[in-house]
Amino acid sequence: MTLQDNVVTKQYSSFSEKTQKISEMSMDQKLAALHVQFHYLKGVAERAFNVDLAKVELRVDLKGYSLLGQAIKKDGDLSIRINIQGVEFYFEDMLNDTLAHEVAHTVQYAKGDRGGHGRDWKYYCSELGGSPTTIAKGDYSLLKPARKMRQWDYGNTVSDEVFQLSTIRHNKLQRGKVQCYVCKGSVGEITKNTFIGESI
Ligand SMILES: [Zn+2]
Repeated sequence: MTLQDNVVTKQYSSFSEKTQKISEMSMDQKLAALHVQFHYLKGVAERAFNVDLAKVELRVDLKGYSLLGQAIKKDGDLSIRINIQGVEFYFEDMLNDTLAHEVAHTVQYAKGDRGGHGRDWKYYCSELGGSPTTIAKGDYSLLKPARKMRQWDYGNTVSDEVFQLSTIRHNKLQRGKVQCYVCKGSVGEITKNTFIGESI
């Protein structure tokens, strides 16, 4: 028995009516809906579990494919981060599941309890309409890895050590503008000729 029958679905269907199809929603509309749902879930959690979540903030700034959401407790402040690409490509899951998952963590923290996915978290999460599991239920292959700077491997003339240089340094070295980045050119430990290849 949940707190209120299908509250999340009902809340969501009001967006659904307003905006018709998710596929037609702009990113701004998705973000607005996410914030409304976030405040709604906070309110439900506050009443149901007797906690104060007023100061918990929502940031939609996670990138990459390793996390859909995150609940953070830092210096006594609580916040939730949601994957922005998740919102773009898997909006329903973020709205109906990930938010509940993370709000449930903030309930744990607000009660002074530890995080984790134990029995307390499972209870809060399912009461908020989320699925109390840490296993991603969908295929999230559209999430892109966070952009990584390219790096370039260089050996050197005096040891086995391999150095990783940025693209800017790599290009300068290849153009012969500098000789070495370790000794500033006096010995030439890392040179154009010790280039190994791009770091993987
Ligand atoms: Zn979690």
